[in-house]
Amino acid sequence: MMGIKKRIAIIGSGASGIAAARSISHIYGDQVDLTLFEKNDYIGGKSRTTMIDGRNYELGSGLIISSPLKKTVFHKALDEANVTLENARKDKRGIVYYSGGKVYKSPDEYNVKALFSTKRLFRYVRDVPIFVFRQLQFDLMIKLNRHPHSRYFAMPLDKNYGLWFVNRFAFGMQGFGYADTSDSKLCPATYYYHQYFDFRMLFKLSVIVKEGTQTIWERLAAEFKEDISLGTTVTSLEKQGSQVLVNTDKGSEKFDYVINTLALPTAFALSTLSQSEEEITKHVKCNPYVTVMAELANMNNIGSFNMDTITASNRLGEAMFVYKRYADSAICTINVVLKDENTDDETIIDHTAASLEEGFGATMVDKKSAQVVRWKDYFSYLEGEQISDGWFEEFENEIQAKHGILYIGSGLHFESLEQSYNYSYKRVKDFLAKQL
Ligand SMILES: Cc1cc2nc3c(=O)[nH]c(=O)nc-3n(C[C@H](O)[C@H](O)[C@H](O)COP(=O)(O)OP(=O)(O)OC[C@H]3O[C@@H](n4cnc5c(N)ncnc54)[C@H](O)[C@@H]3O)c2cc1C
Repeated sequence: MMGIKKRIAIIGSGASGIAAARSISHIYGDQVDLTLFEKNDYIGGKSRTTMIDGRNYELGSGLIISSPLKKTVFHKALDEANVTLENARKDKRGIVYYSGGKVYKSPDEYNVKALFSTKRLFRYVRDVPIFVFRQLQFDLMIKLNRHPHSRYFAMPLDKNYGLWFVNRFAFGMQGFGYADTSDSKLCPATYYYHQYFDFRMLFKLSVIVKEGTQTIWERLAAEFKEDISLGTTVTSLEKQGSQVLVNTDKGSEKFDYVINTLALPTAFALSTLSQSEEEITKHVKCNPYVTVMAELANMNNIGSFNMDTITASNRLGEAMFVYKRYADSAICTINVVLKDENTDDETIIDHTAASLEEGFGATMVDKKSAQVVRWKDYFSYLEGEQISDGWFEEFENEIQAKHGILYIGSGLHFESLEQSYNYSYKRVKDFLAKQL
């Protein structure tokens, strides 16, 4: 392959960083010199697990959507990490859906009510065949373009099928324990298409990692533990001839290649960009997402639920997903997409408590002990308009993999553990196959 060992830096030790490191070490072993920089003093990134009274609670990712039919590199990694997976629906807890001021006890109850409205029934009958057709068309286009972000990702779903259908379908997915908003203003509906509007999802299982998701990365990283530099923040990247100078808060080092796993806006901020590069990168946005962790009373028979909006009259956010991990524990994590990311913790907790009270009659037991975790760059996304204007093609031609820096973070893949891992593993493999 090469005479002198190539030096490769990976920035970030989340699912993408660990996948990148494994992709490299599986193929090149000790033929390359690998260093992984992580600003936190733990690995795993948004797969952040906390322990309360001997139990794991996920502050970030909680469920894994997995197909027993097809083993991806992520599934293999799960096997190798020897994690204990539990079916998320095993205990038959009810799933509650909130819509238009009404609480429905289960998806079925909601769907049946929705279906037996004549107007809706007509739309459903009309929309299903169109949807199937679009699905096939979408798959074909992806295959032909052989690109993870073909321009056909830009089909805004709510325009093609009507928001009603999009919402119903997303709701169907919640039966599998996974939910999010289908608001295309928050994230292009096309991304949701990828995860929530794919019929194959119906055959996938939703599982919980019993030991906590962070365990996956800790176990997988054990084989290259000495290459990880924890508590080291990369502050900037400088192109120096054919190499990249990686500046950190602890010093500077030169590398032949840098794998940047940070969410796109954060990743771009590390390099000095030309004016044309600035123009391309400025279109990437993030959702100001927070997780509130709190003990709730009167949530006994609820597994998880989704609210269209926060119901408190002075609205704080656009969407909300509440996750009660254990049937016999009143501790819940509540995810909120904020309107204003500068909202202080106290206001977030107050509004969240008011919404829960108003929508569900659930009480936050002790507001003072509630915790707020911020995900500054969760869910990087582009507006459908930018995608259909060829943003990804422009990015690939002008920025991606130029000057020895490969970007693989959120914004390029749909943020889920499986997709972050699979995307990173494969993208790094393809990149290095061309370089080494
Ligand atoms: C609230 C929430 C709920 C979620 N729920 C689910 C779910 O149920 N199922 C699912 O599959 N997925 C879920 N996800 C998504 C999942 O967590 C992500 O897809 C995955 O963790 C992304 O991994 P990553 O490596 O790309 O990014 P990250 O995990 O963000 O990793 C980036 C790493 O880079 C480090 N870093 C940042 N800046 C620097 C710097 N300057 N120098 C050095 N290191 C740096 C960070 O500390 C971090 O460790 C959820 C995410 C959130 C936030």
